[in-house]
Amino acid sequence: MSEILELKNVSVHFPVKGGLPFFSRGMIQAVSDVSLTIKHGETFGVVGESGCGKTTLANAMIGMVKPTAGQVLFKGVDLNGLPRDEFKKMRRQMQMIFQDPYSSLNPRFNVYQIVSEPMFIRGEDSEEEMKARVVELLELVGLSAEDLYRHPSDFSGGQRQRIGIARAISLNPSFLVCDEPVSALDVSIHAQILNLLVELQERLNLTYVFISHNLADVKKMCDRMAVMYLGKIMESGDSDKIFRQPLHPYTQALLAAVLDTSFDERRDQIVLQGDIPSPINPPAGCRFWQRCPKAMEGCKTVPPELIEVEEDHFAACHLVNGFPDVELPAGCDEPVDKEDVQV
Ligand code: SF4
Repeated sequence: MSEILELKNVSVHFPVKGGLPFFSRGMIQAVSDVSLTIKHGETFGVVGESGCGKTTLANAMIGMVKPTAGQVLFKGVDLNGLPRDEFKKMRRQMQMIFQDPYSSLNPRFNVYQIVSEPMFIRGEDSEEEMKARVVELLELVGLSAEDLYRHPSDFSGGQRQRIGIARAISLNPSFLVCDEPVSALDVSIHAQILNLLVELQERLNLTYVFISHNLADVKKMCDRMAVMYLGKIMESGDSDKIFRQPLHPYTQALLAAVLDTSFDERRDQIVLQGDIPSPINPPAGCRFWQRCPKAMEGCKTVPPELIEVEEDHFAACHLVNGFPDVELPAGCDEPVDKEDVQV
């Protein structure tokens, strides 16, 4: 499988406004130095707690946010180095399915207007062509031509998400970001939408980035994945390998928190203390050290690198990779005294 998307050392920082006009009070480091590859036809999961930078990373992947540093290569082309017209053409191949089907559809538009909007903006199709295409798309997502002139309020949450999916695939994209596509839906509808996504992927040869904090969904859907914490990747690679043997303490804690009887092995309970720290002033060293149950003194100051531990399985942790070959203070592998740590 060849690569469809590559991120090279991508960082996305936002200024914090407030106080005096034209002055920023600091930078939110939403995504920091992320490198990864996504292959044609796979589903790549991005998981982590709220505020870890998942959605910002996905927005950077499809050019909705310009990285502060680094490159986004889509089909080998640097997205952010393209002239405006070329960028717009390329961008049509990359679409997004939004989290909330209630707020992502304009309540004043009917289904035809919603689904045909991307074609209308592109301006290459006649009214008849757009109508025929919308009917085809509705049938593809399990709705019908009878729904053409109904409004979002006439539909259930699951049906609205089907309309959102029809809109996302209307321009024949090859790359779709699914941003928590089922988290706002009832459990009974949840599986139906996931099955629809799998079916469409096979029929239309789509590549998905699947953002979720639900690890059971990620296990079901994803071939490969990345676990994010405070803007950085903690562990990434083949999802079977990560679920079978999570190497990073953060991934271990996330998996231990899942109530899923289908996991093969029982895992030790790991309860993380405190909340994710502010991305305005992230901890030096390992970003996870204040909450890590296995943190060592050296983790406070020496940032771990994401290193391939086995084929297509990467982890950023000194416990796994050892401290780098630099001069380290004595006692760097002593456990941190958690009594003194404020999270
Ligand atoms: Fe924990 Fe240290 Fe590994 Fe970070 S580098 S996850 S603090 S053991």
